[in-house]
Amino acid sequence: MPLTLHVATTNPGKLRDFAVAVGPHGGEVEFVRLPGMEQIEPPPENGATFEENARSKAMEYSRHAPGCIVLADDSGLEVDALQGAPGVRSARYAADAGFDPESLRASTDDARNNVFLLENLRGLSQADRTARYRCVLAAARDGECIAVAHGAVEGMILDAPRGCGGFGYDPLFYLPEFDRTMAEISLEQKYTISHRGHALRRLLTQLIPNRQEASNP
Ligand code: IMP
Repeated sequence: MPLTLHVATTNPGKLRDFAVAVGPHGGEVEFVRLPGMEQIEPPPENGATFEENARSKAMEYSRHAPGCIVLADDSGLEVDALQGAPGVRSARYAADAGFDPESLRASTDDARNNVFLLENLRGLSQADRTARYRCVLAAARDGECIAVAHGAVEGMILDAPRGCGGFGYDPLFYLPEFDRTMAEISLEQKYTISHRGHALRRLLTQLIPNRQEASNP
């Protein structure tokens, strides 16, 4: 019987990342969207760290699904030249700063965030554009956190977007060892190398007894 994890997110990009994780874990795990997610008042995301936010989301949402294991993801981009920003504010980076140019009124938050990031890094050489994605996954049951796992992936921020896969900052997040952005690789490859993939493999090792770390895909 696969372990059922109820994913507490409405972010379609994160949901797609979790959906591809089923393949490599051949029958060990299944991901189900937390039922009624849209009707639940989201808990405030005002923690200072990804872990604080992931824990509080998992614990709060798990109260709405008695007996189920609820999985919450808090993640984001840290840019060294910006002293780790946007960090925990990654989803609201442009909005927090009131960056809302007329030309982007019809665009998504992701598009505004990417343009704002490019503006803030304008003029920096490629060597000064180092960055990483971080992800913390928390699993909770009946209001109690039962597991937490971290993952990260290093990269660089380009000076123009490349590729149309992924979500969020992926078209700007360049992976030197692949000579591709995160938006130019397949979701399966992303799962193998990404912050979310690393965190999920570590979380499953905690949640599934006797799981062999060495055989983790
Ligand atoms: P959260 O929903 O508060 O965890 O915000 C996550 C935000 O971080 C997203 O809205 C994206 O802006 C960014 N982010 C996290 N993971 C990824 C990823 O895998 N690709 C691109 N952007 C990401």
